[in-house]
Amino acid sequence: MSLIVQKYGGTSVGTPERIINVAKRILETKEAGHQVVAVVSAMSGVTNRLIELADQVTGEGKPTEREMDVLLATGEQTTIALTAMALNSMGAEAVSLTGAQAGIETDGVHTKARISNISPEGVHEMLDEGKIVILAGFQGKTADGKITTLGRGGSDLTAIAMAAAIDADLCQIFTDVDGVYTCDPRVVPDAKKIDEISYDEMLEMASSGTKVMQSRSVEFAKKFGVRFEVRSSLNNNPGTLVREESMSMESVVIRGVSLEREQAKVTISGVNDLPGTAGKIFGAVAEANILVDMIVQNVSVKQTGKTDISFTVHRDDVEKAEAALTPVLAELGNGVTIRARDGIAKLSVVGIGMRSHSGVAAEMFEALSNAGINIEMISTSEIKITVTVSEEQIDEAAKVMHAAFGLAEA
Ligand code: ADP
Ligand code: ASP
Ligand code: MG
Repeated sequence: MSLIVQKYGGTSVGTPERIINVAKRILETKEAGHQVVAVVSAMSGVTNRLIELADQVTGEGKPTEREMDVLLATGEQTTIALTAMALNSMGAEAVSLTGAQAGIETDGVHTKARISNISPEGVHEMLDEGKIVILAGFQGKTADGKITTLGRGGSDLTAIAMAAAIDADLCQIFTDVDGVYTCDPRVVPDAKKIDEISYDEMLEMASSGTKVMQSRSVEFAKKFGVRFEVRSSLNNNPGTLVREESMSMESVVIRGVSLEREQAKVTISGVNDLPGTAGKIFGAVAEANILVDMIVQNVSVKQTGKTDISFTVHRDDVEKAEAALTPVLAELGNGVTIRARDGIAKLSVVGIGMRSHSGVAAEMFEALSNAGINIEMISTSEIKITVTVSEEQIDEAAKVMHAAFGLAEA
């Protein structure tokens, strides 16, 4: 008998028929002699609709984050009840649990809370009584009982954290694709399913736009050594195993290509190239809780000692960034200006093989140039190279990258 955590995403529970399908799969696992905790997401589209509703009742003002979490948590609460009902009507003994009921405690950062502790005794007890536990993804509670949510895609994190807390033998992330592909199969139709990928590669892909896994969940899995499998809830094909790296993984230079749309580039020009300038700029942006990604500072002009600093943010954060920076610009002196431009997307190639292979950047830039795609900004890490291109060209750029590194033949 194994202890198995399964997670079913929004599309997998998107209709009553799909919930019944999921219930059957859970029951099959149980009937094969295993203990099962099944984490479910809100039915697809529900979380987005709840966000729209909140916007509609608050008009110009913003909903308080406390109430936002109370609202968003209802999406998953609906699915746990329906899944447990479906199972019970099949003759199984299933019990639904909210995050709070399952002992998932978080910090108080509403809408993107971090899990601080899990007390799994109650879950163990129910499993020992022979019950199937249906757990609401994406939510927890603070020490003083407030409902919190874990950021978009957070049901992945619930599954991985619970698998770690109960020391599960297996953690399976069921979704609407067969696994993690070399690129988003909706963009690159000849993308190939990856059989095995290291935590670091999965993390770099997830944080650069590969939304099949929430990046924080992968971070957690790496930290606590939770191996997991990403696979389809609609068939029985083997999926992708995400695990610690092995020697053989290094032989593949590029594991996958990620893309992220809806980015904007903010440029601050005419700043003095002096210690403390970047600190002031990014301090103000961080204070406003805006996620900054690529940062590029030009070499300063010798005669004037002035330079430009550019960075990317999500398109929706531009106004907030400009507002946060306005007081700083005044402080930075005369002639400092700010410009923002959206319509930008990020393209990344990821692979641990890059550590031991040179020339990847050159190959990437040459392939893009041959396709007439202009690169605006570049940043690199040990196992990732990211460039920004025009958003209109991102699909083409992803296809060009995929072909240039021979990923369809992987
Ligand atoms: P779930 O609702 O199960 O959590 P998501 O919508 O969060 O599912 O993630 C699955 C989707 O991620 C797929 O339908 C696919 O379009 C997208 N995706 C993006 N990049 C990749 C990739 N490299 N491999 C697999 N899926 C990807
Ligand atoms: N329902 C949440 C979302 O849409 C969490 C999840 O699906 O993982 O982001
Ligand atoms: Mg998801």
